[in-house]
Amino acid sequence: MMTVRDAYDPLGTAGGSRTPPPRIRIAVPNVGEEEVAAVTEVLGSGILTNGPATKRFEDAMAQRHGAAHAVAFANGTVALAAMYLACGIGPGDEVIVPSLTFISTATSVLHIGATPVFADVSPDTLNLDPDDVARRMTPRTRAIVPVHYGGQAADLDELRAIADAHGAVVLEDAAEAHGARYRGRPVGSTTDAAMFSFTPTKNITTGEGGIVTTNRSDLDQAMRLLRNHGMDAPYHHAALGWNWRITEMQAAMGVCQVERLDHILERKRANAAALTARLAPIAGVQTPTEAPDRDHTYMLYTVQLPADRRDQVAADLAADGIEARIYFPPAHLQPVFADTPSDGLAVTEDVARRILSLPVHLSLSEQDLDDIAASIARSLA
Ligand SMILES: *Cc1c(COP(=O)(O)O)cnc(C)c1O
Repeated sequence: MMTVRDAYDPLGTAGGSRTPPPRIRIAVPNVGEEEVAAVTEVLGSGILTNGPATKRFEDAMAQRHGAAHAVAFANGTVALAAMYLACGIGPGDEVIVPSLTFISTATSVLHIGATPVFADVSPDTLNLDPDDVARRMTPRTRAIVPVHYGGQAADLDELRAIADAHGAVVLEDAAEAHGARYRGRPVGSTTDAAMFSFTPTKNITTGEGGIVTTNRSDLDQAMRLLRNHGMDAPYHHAALGWNWRITEMQAAMGVCQVERLDHILERKRANAAALTARLAPIAGVQTPTEAPDRDHTYMLYTVQLPADRRDQVAADLAADGIEARIYFPPAHLQPVFADTPSDGLAVTEDVARRILSLPVHLSLSEQDLDDIAASIARSLA
C-alpha cells in the first residue's frame, strides 16, 4: 500500500517525482470511521452516480447554509462555470473577481467565454475592496464575484448595493468558507448563488467536489441541466450540457463532512487563537484581521510579514519540517492572464509579497503550534 510518505505531491505538479512530506503539513483532511462506513455502503449499493447520496449531500448543504437549493458538482471549478452560465453570462460580459484568489475564480470566467475584470483587495482582510469594485463597474458588468478569503466573509452588503445599482448579480466564491457567517446569516444564503469547494485543503472535503447554493429555482434548474448533458427527460437533451456530476461515493462522504463541520470550525478557531497568541508578540508578524459582523472559519491562517523577509521565513519553516504556502500568487500576473488588462492592483501586488499561510488544521499538537511560532521567531530575530 502506498502512503503519503512515498508520494507527497499535493499540487499534482511533480510528474512522478517523490519528495518526503514535511513533518507538519499545511492541511490534513479530517476523515473518520463514519466516512469509511458511508462510502463502503455506497459501494455495495449498486448506485454509484445520480443517486440518493447526492440528494442527501445537497440537502445537508442547503440546510446548513439557509438556502432553498443546492446542486452538487464534480469539483468547485466546474461549479463556478455552471453558476455563471446559469445566470446567462457569456461572451461580451464582464465579471469582477479578485486577483488574490485561486486561479479558477477567474479561469472559469474564461471557460464560459466572458471577460474577467480584476479588482483590488483590502490590505487587512484580503477581501474585495468595494470602492475599487465600484470604480470598475461598466455597462457590461454582469456579476461581482467576492471570494471569502481564507474563510472570512467579504463585504457582501456593500457589494450587493453596487451590483443592484448596475443591474448585476453577486455570486459568491465561497470555496473556502463553509459555515461562515456574515451579519448573522450564513454565506450562501443572501446572494443569487454561492459556490463551495471540497478539495482536501478546504475545511471539509470529498477529495474533489463542489456545490452551488441558491434561493433561485430558475438557477437551480439551469444548473441541473448543465450538470447532466442538458437532459430534462431520459435521452432528451433540451440544452447544451456537460457531465459535471459528483459520484455517490464523494457525496456520501460529503454528508458525513457536513455533520463534522461545526466541530472542525470550533477546533480551527481554537488553533487560530493559539497561533495568534504565540505570533502577535513577534516583531514583524501581522496576524490575521477579524473584521466586525462576521466570523472567520480559518480555512487559511494567513500572516503578513516584511516583504524582504517573507521568503526566508518560508524557507526556514521548510527547513524545520513545517509546510507554509503563499495563498495565492496573484492571478493577473499568471501567464494565462497575459492578455487580460489588469492595472491598479497595487494592494494585491503589495500583500502578495508579504502573505504566508501557516498550518492551522485539527491534527496540530500544542508542540506543533509552539514549533511553528518558534521557527518564525528565530527566522525574524
Ligand atoms: C479551492 C478553490 C477553488 C477551486 O475549487 P476546486 O474544487 O479545486 O475546483 C475556487 N476558488 C477558490 C477561492 C478556492 O479556494
